[in-house]
Amino acid sequence: QENAEIVAVGTELLLGQIPNTNAQWLSKAMASIGINVRHHSVVGDNLRRVEEQFRIAGERADIIIVTGGLGPTEDDLTREAFQQLTGIPIIEHKSSMEKIEAYFAEKQETMTSNNRKQARVFTGADVMTNNTGMAPGMIVTHNDKTWVFLPGVPREMKRMMTDRVIPRLQQVIGRDTVIKSTMLRFTGIGESKVEDKLLDLIQQQTNPTIAPLAQDQGIAIRLTAKAEFDQEADRLIKQSRAAVMERVGEFFHGTDDQTLEESVYSLLKQQGYTLGAAESLTGGMFTERLTAIPGASDVCTGAIVCYGTQVKEQVLNVSSELIRQHGTISEACASSMAENVRSRLDSDIGISFTGAAGPDSSERQPAGTVFIGVYDKSGKQTVEKYTFQGDRQTVRERAVLKGYELLFN
Ligand code: ATP
Ligand code: MG
Repeated sequence: QENAEIVAVGTELLLGQIPNTNAQWLSKAMASIGINVRHHSVVGDNLRRVEEQFRIAGERADIIIVTGGLGPTEDDLTREAFQQLTGIPIIEHKSSMEKIEAYFAEKQETMTSNNRKQARVFTGADVMTNNTGMAPGMIVTHNDKTWVFLPGVPREMKRMMTDRVIPRLQQVIGRDTVIKSTMLRFTGIGESKVEDKLLDLIQQQTNPTIAPLAQDQGIAIRLTAKAEFDQEADRLIKQSRAAVMERVGEFFHGTDDQTLEESVYSLLKQQGYTLGAAESLTGGMFTERLTAIPGASDVCTGAIVCYGTQVKEQVLNVSSELIRQHGTISEACASSMAENVRSRLDSDIGISFTGAAGPDSSERQPAGTVFIGVYDKSGKQTVEKYTFQGDRQTVRERAVLKGYELLFN
């Protein structure tokens, strides 16, 4: 089983002037053909240190992908460093040189002599012409290791990798591996709880691998299978999915890119229920998400943005006595809002949002205090109180997600 290292060359990376997006992209590309990337390394434009990094990479990896430092300037030292390490002679690559000359001729510019450098390649290398820039890339086999040299410019690097390197690496590893990934999404359960329930599976499974990821919208578990054929990868994923679902299936809401609101939409539709919302704190954000889903009218009757107290009283019929007694940021108010919006909008379920979004406290409730009420036509009702951390927008967004979570669970 081959393993790979990605070496990014460039002082600007070490200075933090640009992020190492090449390494990230290359890692994904390698994963997609089933090659494990074991190391990312970054080295500045310094001959001795680049050579040293190449030596280290050559000792620990079977496939080494180098990006950057192939250009015409003084600080582009990738070739020199590799030559010092291996002693492989460098020659001028004729067709690359012609391409560079043609480029300058066409632009009617005189070519500075350092541009010749870009056409210099290792003897015996598989030279990859650059269709989007000047410096060609190279694949070199040395001491049984495969070295891939790519330009630093992301667009040029990606094109070469996709067109030339990936097919070549698939030959090198001697098989066409299929990698398939599925995300299983959960709500109403925390990351540590998920890990706890799946720990032995996560530790024992190597194919598919099982990786829990904490995300905005709850927890996701990524299953990644490697196989020779599509159907085999599908079978492995199906098997491992069943094992995961056996443990935490009750919290499952959807797969892959499915959002929580889409899951709620499907659930309501399946049950034949409609939903109306009373949105004070969230000002319509909750319903905005639901109505973004095509077909939302099947489940969404509407919303009342009852931001001011008089709207809560006059449009939603929340009693002024209740508000005088408990305030609008209260369990009692959330409960009444949910119940009344349900009947007012003629829905099966009413949901309500009231709270102090911040930054200041409101009605003596600290910022982040949120009440969400749910009332369904059978008379079943719940009100949950939350204290969210974060700025105004964060509090509002978290309330929206919690609302969907409550409806799902
Ligand atoms: P050039 O012919 O442009 O000099 P090169 O092969 O010498 O190409 P570099 O000079 O190292 O490559 O980088 C060219 C540009 O590509 C950088 O200025 C930077 O914007 C971008 N780049 C280089 N390395 C990376 C990286 N690892 N991740 C993202 N972008 C990068
Ligand atoms: Mg350069």
